[in-house]
Amino acid sequence: MAELAVRRPRKRLFIGLAVMSLMVAAISTYGVWAVTSPGLARIHVYLPIVVGAALLMLIAALGLGIFLVVLAIIGVPFLRIAQGLAWWAINLLFPVINLMGRLLDINRETIEHSFIEVSNALVRRRRVRVSPDRLLILTPHCIQRDVCAHKITKRAENCKCCGHCQVGDLVDLARKRGVHLAIVPGGTLARQVIKKLRPKAVLAVACERDLVSGIQDVFPMPVIGVLNDRPFGPCCNTRVDLERIEEGLDMFLEPDGARPQ
Ligand code: SF4
Repeated sequence: MAELAVRRPRKRLFIGLAVMSLMVAAISTYGVWAVTSPGLARIHVYLPIVVGAALLMLIAALGLGIFLVVLAIIGVPFLRIAQGLAWWAINLLFPVINLMGRLLDINRETIEHSFIEVSNALVRRRRVRVSPDRLLILTPHCIQRDVCAHKITKRAENCKCCGHCQVGDLVDLARKRGVHLAIVPGGTLARQVIKKLRPKAVLAVACERDLVSGIQDVFPMPVIGVLNDRPFGPCCNTRVDLERIEEGLDMFLEPDGARPQ
């Protein structure tokens, strides 16, 4: 089988773009405020000051959020409420960050990959621990070998563990660690599975785009995103680094959780 490509985290890229986006947002906000304040002053003399103060607070909160993300990445502990602020800042700036990336001719997938690494760093700082029955491994259907006839999307245990794809390894791992495993054909079904199983944490395997939308959809639920590898192109016989799944399990599970024999 094809070897998994080694992908390096690129958190600095996202942080750099976030800082640039913040500066652009601050300058644009100031420009809009400067242009509209004479009109606001005609409505009420104090209105430009009130609006200016509110905008200043918004920009300051975004700046603080990015600063907290940097602290999380370098390993400084902070309160849970700060985590929410950090998350809010990067999500609010995400469209501007994407736009900035496009202007700088940076591939969208590269930015999304960097976002996933940043998000994973924030989740790690939360030090979430759950019991195995509240942890879900979620992977897309394309991890199954394309010619396999076994129906695994309703029940992953239907896999015969023949070794031709990694579904068997995942079924085995989920069984040994006592966690849920769901293999789904798309994002809508992934959301349904989460609603049904109500996990407290998710280890999600997918491509950049699906991981970003999934992570954003289920926040504040902690999700560790693991990028899949696509040696045969998108959505066909994809693979995942099982070591990263194990790392995620170790991170989320209680120390006395089920371990491999
Ligand atoms: S490991 Fe399971 S899902 Fe994969 S090809 Fe074999 S039987 Fe099919």
